[in-house]
Amino acid sequence: MSRHIIEAVQAWQPELAAIRQDIHAHPELGMEEVRTAGLVARHLREWGVEVTEGVGQLGVVGTIRGTRPGNRTIGLRADMDALPIPEQTGLPYASKNPGVMHACGHDGHTTMLLGAARWLSENRDFAGTVHLIFQPAEEGRGGARAMLADGLFERFPCDAIYGLHNAPRRPAGHFAIRPGPTMAAADRFTVIFRGTGGHGGYTPHLATDITIVQAHFVLALQTIIGRNVAAKDAAVLSVGAISAGNHIGANVMPAELTISGTARSYTPAVRDLLERRIGELAHGLAAAHGCTAEVEYRRGVPATVNHPEQTKVAYAAAAAVVGAAAVDPNPDPSTGAEDFALMLEQRPGAFMSIGGGAPDGSSPALHTPLFDFNDATIPLGVAYWASLVAQELGNPEG
Ligand SMILES: [Zn+2]
Ligand SMILES: [Zn+2]
Repeated sequence: MSRHIIEAVQAWQPELAAIRQDIHAHPELGMEEVRTAGLVARHLREWGVEVTEGVGQLGVVGTIRGTRPGNRTIGLRADMDALPIPEQTGLPYASKNPGVMHACGHDGHTTMLLGAARWLSENRDFAGTVHLIFQPAEEGRGGARAMLADGLFERFPCDAIYGLHNAPRRPAGHFAIRPGPTMAAADRFTVIFRGTGGHGGYTPHLATDITIVQAHFVLALQTIIGRNVAAKDAAVLSVGAISAGNHIGANVMPAELTISGTARSYTPAVRDLLERRIGELAHGLAAAHGCTAEVEYRRGVPATVNHPEQTKVAYAAAAAVVGAAAVDPNPDPSTGAEDFALMLEQRPGAFMSIGGGAPDGSSPALHTPLFDFNDATIPLGVAYWASLVAQELGNPEG
């Protein structure tokens, strides 16, 4: 990658950082990104990019056509939404929207893709078309699904699709990407146990006690991980909530108890296994104690699986920016989830991680009230996108 791209983009850093901080100060939850989507569309137009708004409600797609002949098309995707977290950074550009915060760095993702739009619009010496996909509602509110349902890939055909996420635990200046599963499927289970309840002091022997059932169930859940999931595979089951009875009437055995939690996995086979075994254990343990169970297993986003060919392309693009030594080709998969996975189910592509943290690993983690996207990495993200287009569409500048 020629030096001049990085130098040119570096010169835009103050302007791009100001855009990032403006987005940071005005965070919006998923499917409420009216201001953010408007800001994106305005900048794209200002930089001469063809804009389509309202894709999947609030999604924005910018389209840039190369000046050289070519039919290949690629999609570059960023997310725009914030989280329901009260910000505690005390920064001058901290959230002005109480209780809502850009704690996952999507303000940075949006800005880096905007920077790429500006660069590509001014430097169109490539063969093919780039669609810049600004997605709403990544954080569990169905943004990718909404854009896909609105015909994203029919209206904006993409031969390959790429995403990028910041990683505060990885040092700034470094990238990481692995082929295959890189983030997990995130599902939710809810089990309602029902028994007779009764007087906990006077007639417990006449009751069917769901608190005993849930105690066995919570312990048995981890036997799915230890005894059903093969050692070579990985999965997580965690209980997040248990509710029944009340602490005032503590001598009353409850007749109904609800327990729910999260299930993470990397392959369809393990995902199916988790769903089946949770149901078997809930029903089996309930039956053993004369109770019943109602089980719901709700599938969220699937695992994020990088395609091997596009992973190589993405790796080369990052290596061209920071040097191969600063691109980790084998990072551990994360048990977090990402709805870009849904796009990767439909098109080949890859999801890159860009470091943003302090070298000693002290930077606040994603989804915490002290997190802030690292503006110094904006030019690297922009250069990565430019480099990726060069790799994919043969820009001689690459
Ligand atoms: Zn997040
Ligand atoms: Zn995120």
